[in-house]
Amino acid sequence: MAPITQDVHTIPRKLPEGGLTNIVGLTRDQLRDALIAAGTPEKQAKMRLGQVWQWVYHWGVRDFTAMTNLAKDYRALLAANFTIELPQVVSRQISADGTRKYLVRIAGGHEVEVVYIPETDRGTLCISSQVGCTLTCSFCHTGTQKLVRNLTAAEIVGQVMLARDDLGEWPVQGAPKEEVRLISNVVLMGMGEPLYNFENVRDAMKIVMDGEGIALGRRRITLSTSGVVPEIARTAREIGCLLAVSFHATTDAVRDVLVPINKRWNIATLLEALREYPGLSNSERITFEYVMLDGVNDTKEDAYRLVELLRGIPAKVNLIPFNEWPGAPYKRSSGNRIHAFADIIHNAGYASPIRTPRGEDIMAACGQLKSATERARKSKAQIAAEAGL
Ligand code: SAH
Ligand code: SF4
Repeated sequence: MAPITQDVHTIPRKLPEGGLTNIVGLTRDQLRDALIAAGTPEKQAKMRLGQVWQWVYHWGVRDFTAMTNLAKDYRALLAANFTIELPQVVSRQISADGTRKYLVRIAGGHEVEVVYIPETDRGTLCISSQVGCTLTCSFCHTGTQKLVRNLTAAEIVGQVMLARDDLGEWPVQGAPKEEVRLISNVVLMGMGEPLYNFENVRDAMKIVMDGEGIALGRRRITLSTSGVVPEIARTAREIGCLLAVSFHATTDAVRDVLVPINKRWNIATLLEALREYPGLSNSERITFEYVMLDGVNDTKEDAYRLVELLRGIPAKVNLIPFNEWPGAPYKRSSGNRIHAFADIIHNAGYASPIRTPRGEDIMAACGQLKSATERARKSKAQIAAEAGL
């Protein structure tokens, strides 16, 4: 089956208007303050906050007139002061394997990508935290782009909301509660380094976890970092989600090249921070991501060294076959190499799943984000130039 690309024609969304505050992305405290500033009596603020929060994040309502348990004049007050805005979906591609990739436009005309990966017993949404990335991991396509900016909390939580829109996952009033969630997990593994945008990522994830709204459990959220050591403990304390680390090498010499942030915080420093990750236990293991690069980091010696390094850390190793992108300086390790590596880790007592590349036909796999879009843009521009348009 060929992949399907389509432009999405949803209800046209209003552009943010001068003076109106977007409710999406405000923390509970910020929203409460904003409701009071808009004229909500302080005594009612707590109740109003709860009501509005539920409409926006539990029911997925975007229109104040639909907030039927609020008096008409209060709805008018809300409409006069607030909007409920999400980033705009520009296009949606669906892979032959069911993976969906959304190209999303944010303020300033920037674009990020969001990927939904359905599996038999769960569905994972991979969201972005920055446009591009300031780090320059040599195997990652996002790392070849210049950072444009951090995403706001609204733009981060908005990615979860727009995917729920597309999947039809908001509850329907009066209908029985769905047992299975389409988006059962969220991973911060899209574009950007989430720990370089800590506050916005934290606020957005707090909203996603809030029990009165989308209510995704904290253990259903995984934040992936390249190893920003000073923010690691804070991730556990202030967000409480699971942690994944882009490890990728077993010596500093190799990791310095693959993940250059290693020159700032080397393997020993990183491991020390991970050993101290608050709340670390067998049920809340750290995922070590390890991209398999042919002839670079994929020998048996590497696997044995990795086992030594992990000693004492409740860990699981996620082996990621390298996903190539145009001009990439590496090749994917052979299947035999990857399996031999996985067996050594497994025999040492660590889970070592090999990540199946998903959505490769739509360039949605790890590390490929944004490239297809950029190329499509370029070729469109080229076509226009050639046609003398
Ligand atoms: N910046 C964060 C999160 C985004 S990257 C981080 O680096 O952890 C999510 C994962 O995809 C990381 O483990 C990253 O190293 C990996 N990755 C990047 N490019 C890849 C590629 N071309 N093939 C396979 N995995 C890749
Ligand atoms: Fe940035 Fe992560 Fe890519 Fe490294 S792997 S360049 S940290 S997005």
